[in-house]
Amino acid sequence: MTTPIPAGQTRRTALVRDERFLGHDPGPGHPESPDRLRVIYRALDEAPPAGECFVLPPREASPDQLAWNHSPEYVERIARAAAAGLPRSLDPDTVVGPGSWEAAVLAVGGVFAAVDALVEGRADTAFALVRPPGHHAEAGHAMGFCLFNNVALGARYARKVHGIDRVLVADWDLHHGNGTQHSFYEDPSVLYFSTHQFPYYPGSGRVEEAGHGEGEGFTVNVPLPPGVGDAGYAAVFDRVLAPAADRFRPGLVLVSAGFDPFIRDPLGGMRVTARGFGALAARVLTLAGRHCGGRVLFCLEGGYDPAGLRDGVRAVLAACAEGPGADPGPAPDPGPEVARVIDRVIEVHRGFQLLG
Ligand SMILES: [Zn+2]
Repeated sequence: MTTPIPAGQTRRTALVRDERFLGHDPGPGHPESPDRLRVIYRALDEAPPAGECFVLPPREASPDQLAWNHSPEYVERIARAAAAGLPRSLDPDTVVGPGSWEAAVLAVGGVFAAVDALVEGRADTAFALVRPPGHHAEAGHAMGFCLFNNVALGARYARKVHGIDRVLVADWDLHHGNGTQHSFYEDPSVLYFSTHQFPYYPGSGRVEEAGHGEGEGFTVNVPLPPGVGDAGYAAVFDRVLAPAADRFRPGLVLVSAGFDPFIRDPLGGMRVTARGFGALAARVLTLAGRHCGGRVLFCLEGGYDPAGLRDGVRAVLAACAEGPGADPGPAPDPGPEVARVIDRVIEVHRGFQLLG
C-alpha cells in the first residue's frame, strides 16, 4: 500500500510519548511503575536517538473503539474504578487508580495515531512509548499489569479504519500475550507470533495452541526454556517468523516490544542484550520491507530493568533509522534446546498454511 522510502532518503520515526502515561500508578514497589517510562524519556532527551524522530502526541480512544476488543461492561468497569479515586486491585497484580483511565485510553489512542502516521506516510516506523502495557488484557478482564490491549486494538483499527487486509503481530515480550492470542484465535486476518519463556506466567502459549477454525495456523507460539539469548531469539525469527510472514504477506506489522527478555531483568530468566533487541527489530523491519514498505509499529509492553528499557529502546530506534535490509550478520546458532523447539513448531504447523 505504500512504497518503500528511496535509498539515500532519511527514514522518519514517530515516537508516541506523553507525560500523562506517568499518571497510571500501581503503587510503591510495583514493577510496572511510571519510572519505566521516565527512564526512557529522559534518555531520549539527553541523547537524541539515531535517525530522524519526531514526537507524535496520543489522542484518547473512545469507549466504542475500546469495545472493538473488550466487552462494553468491562470498559465501563475500568472507567468507574478509575473515577472512584482510590487505587483498586482488579487482579492480584493489576491496579487501577485515579490517573489510570486517562493513561490507558491514551495508550490505545497513541497506537491508533501511530498507525495513521504509518499508513498516511508521515512516518516509516513508529514506537509507541506508552503504558500501561496491553498484551495480557482479555476481552472481559484486566490481567498482568494490562488494562486494554493496545496492540490488539491497533490491529483492529488498521483493519477497520484503514482497510488493511492482513496484520502481523510479533510479540517478543518475555511473557505470552494471552489476550492478543485470544483476540484473533479464529481470525486469519491477524497472524499472532509469540516467543516467550515457558512454562511461565500466564501459562498459555504452548506450540499446540495454533489457532482454531478459519484461524488455524495463524497463531504461532514459540515457547522457550529460560536462558535463551540473542542467538536463540534471532534463529527463531529467521527460521519461524520470517518464513511465516513471507507466506502471510502482512500489510502492516505491529510488535509487542517487551524488554523483559533482557539479561538482567528482575522478572525474567532470558539473556537477551540491548544489541540483541536491535537485531530482532532489524529482522522484523527487513521482513516488513518485503511486504509493506517496512511499516512497523513497535509498542512497549513489559521490561523492568532500567538499562534494559533504556538501551533496548535505543537499539530498536537505531534499527529503525537503518530500515529494512540491514545486515543480520552470520546465521545464528541457537543451540540444541532452541533448535528442538523450532523443529517442534514447524512440525505442528506442517499441515497449516504458513509453515506447511
Ligand atoms: Zn512481559
